[in-house]
Amino acid sequence: MKTTCLVCNTPASTQCSGCKRAGYCSKACSTEDWPYHKRNCKRIRAAGAQPMDAILFPVNATQPRLIRVPWTYGPTSDNIPLDWQKLDCQPWIGGKDSALKTMYVQTLGRNGPALGYTIAIEHDDNSFVNGSATNRCIPAVTGGQAPHPWAGNVIALRAKEA
Ligand SMILES: [Zn+2]
Ligand SMILES: [Zn+2]
Repeated sequence: MKTTCLVCNTPASTQCSGCKRAGYCSKACSTEDWPYHKRNCKRIRAAGAQPMDAILFPVNATQPRLIRVPWTYGPTSDNIPLDWQKLDCQPWIGGKDSALKTMYVQTLGRNGPALGYTIAIEHDDNSFVNGSATNRCIPAVTGGQAPHPWAGNVIALRAKEA
């Protein structure tokens, strides 16, 4: 359960009885949030608590590998302040000097054909200033065609619907 109220950010004492993943401090706050939350409540229940499948491009290896990323319900990231599947990337992209950022990709290559779906790229926006090592995996899988270098771990997954 989320430990702070989704509306006023004070400690939560109750939770949505439907999805059991949205915390509130009071009946008043849960009532206030319901018109917004009801849309997500059903989707959260459908999504369950299963971790999301993702591909890790490890900083220090040339082979990508499959990982399962846990999530909780809350603001998805600093640049997307919507309450939905907030990924817990801490095991891969974390630390006090890290800034998790999401980038969305919808075409194959920079100006290539549309993919028909959106891929979310999770990366550390501070990786070039916090001493992260250069990512070895992305140059390996792209044959050196990535338009810019990456540092630290990078995670790709089918985009969460916003
Ligand atoms: Zn509240
Ligand atoms: Zn709910």
